[in-house]
Amino acid sequence: MREKGSKAKLREFFLENAGKVVNKDELGKIAGKSEWARRVRELRNEEGMNIVTHNDRDDLKPGQYLLVNLKPLPAFDRAISKETRAFVLDRNGFTCQMCGAAAGEPHPYDANRKTRLHLGHVIDKSMGGTDDAANLKAICSVCNEGASNLTLNRPQAIKLLAQIRRAPASDQLDVLKWILQKFPDQAKKLLDE
Ligand SMILES: [Zn+2]
Repeated sequence: MREKGSKAKLREFFLENAGKVVNKDELGKIAGKSEWARRVRELRNEEGMNIVTHNDRDDLKPGQYLLVNLKPLPAFDRAISKETRAFVLDRNGFTCQMCGAAAGEPHPYDANRKTRLHLGHVIDKSMGGTDDAANLKAICSVCNEGASNLTLNRPQAIKLLAQIRRAPASDQLDVLKWILQKFPDQAKKLLDE
């Protein structure tokens, strides 16, 4: 019961301080020195609270935490097994299916943030969508907050090629590197032909 108490207190503290940076000393006082870090992880991973750290944003220092807003993360781990989560992220190439940001890399639309991927529903649960892998997709926290303001449609090959053609050579080489890493076998075959 003590565990539940400390988590409830932390939840309340974050909600009271939504949008404000709090630090680990405050959290430790509320939930106990040995407990608070695990409880914060649970609030994020099991309850979907959008709590970020210096791992997510460069404007936060180690030991600082921020509940970004009250909107829950799109689909959180409690409902979805680790296996399903791993399967969907792998199927989506660890890439946000809305904006193309890659997990762990600086976000293309907000370079201060490292891309953190969540699972989102293709068909919303309120519309009858399920938690099956077929109805899940990788989505980054920036898109989840609606910040990147992109359409849901994937770009067509013809438009992609047009963008790449007019990009500087150094960017074209980055594209080449990424494609070679993604399709090593196919690349070998093409070169042998
Ligand atoms: Zn995104």
